[in-house]
Amino acid sequence: MNATRRNPVPPAAAPEALATPGSSAPMTDAQVEHFFATLRAANPHPETELQFTNVFELLAAVLLSAQATDVGVNKATRKLFALAPTPQRMLALGLEGLEAQIKTIGLYRTKAKHLLQTCRMLVEQHGGRVPREREALEALPGVGRKTANVVLNVAFGEPTMAVDTHIFRVGNRTGLALGKNPLAVEQVLLRRVPPAYRVDAHHWLILHGRYVCQARLPRCAACQVAVDCQFQPKTATR
Ligand code: SF4
Repeated sequence: MNATRRNPVPPAAAPEALATPGSSAPMTDAQVEHFFATLRAANPHPETELQFTNVFELLAAVLLSAQATDVGVNKATRKLFALAPTPQRMLALGLEGLEAQIKTIGLYRTKAKHLLQTCRMLVEQHGGRVPREREALEALPGVGRKTANVVLNVAFGEPTMAVDTHIFRVGNRTGLALGKNPLAVEQVLLRRVPPAYRVDAHHWLILHGRYVCQARLPRCAACQVAVDCQFQPKTATR
């Protein structure tokens, strides 16, 4: 059953009414399965939109992407990674040199400081390599749980869920994973996403939140998973 066409909400609906955590009923297991089967059929091999050529660049890009867009980060890192594709080369840039490369990215001073501290730890404690243990990743300056989850998933193929603002919203709005904070949503996802979809799930959810189930106005009338989504009432927006 799809309420989209029966009871549409005009685009003027208040944004907060479209994004309240816990306001939707939970999806059933069958709906969760169908939800991911649909997203997989539409995009069998989802990928991060951050650009990188090695694991260190991935870690650096994710660290720089906090509260910034992937497009903005890619613009800066294209030149940065050509100059400094390793922690050793990044350290050689120095603080001023690094800041000059990333000054178009929000919070660039703090991020530059953290990135250089992280590079120093990678060189001194990990032989210049990015560790694949969560604890070691989260011990790096500027690397929190979400960044560690992205690296573990994208670089090492672990079935982690990096809950960002998009996944938090989509999880709560659709009824896929209800939770009051990102960690709660992550834990529900780890429990509820069927094994076959776990490695790619966070990419599908980020892309869905970024391009379809958008914060201010979800595009319900164009949404492929509307039949499973528990958000009521849906919008008439395409
Ligand atoms: S865009 Fe899709 S997933 Fe988001 S609220 Fe609308 S129907 Fe649900």
